[in-house]
Amino acid sequence: MATDKQKLGDFGEELIKKKFDCPKCKRTKTLKKLPPNFKCADIICDFCGYLAQVKTKTVTDIEKFPSKILGAAWQPQKDRMDAGIYFPLFVVLKNKNKHSVFYLSSDLQTEAMFIKRKPLSSSAKRAGWQGYYFDGTLLEKFISRLI
Ligand SMILES: [Zn+2]
Repeated sequence: MATDKQKLGDFGEELIKKKFDCPKCKRTKTLKKLPPNFKCADIICDFCGYLAQVKTKTVTDIEKFPSKILGAAWQPQKDRMDAGIYFPLFVVLKNKNKHSVFYLSSDLQTEAMFIKRKPLSSSAKRAGWQGYYFDGTLLEKFISRLI
């Protein structure tokens, strides 16, 4: 059974896959979902190999860009940034029956947009695990609204 968090993620990825052409090669219907355990990206273009991350967040107002968006594990993200690697990012905001979509290309991303979270406490299921979130206030200055 998929959790609510997984269902929300699936919603965003399905939406991007169905509604958008590949931003790189401009072909239609070439964006595919990567398996859930695939680490660096959520979708791939099966023609040109373009990769992107999709973050989906439940909000009350889809017109208002959130100040924080949960990312994923910090260490791999840090290692990628140290290597100068960034992936294009789609952000899907969803409320009960509406959604908005935003896009940030990799060349507009900076280290400052990725904020390290505190490691999970020793009582947590994944004790010591450390994640990151996106600084939405900073993202908003560079991100483009698509729909
Ligand atoms: Zn493509």
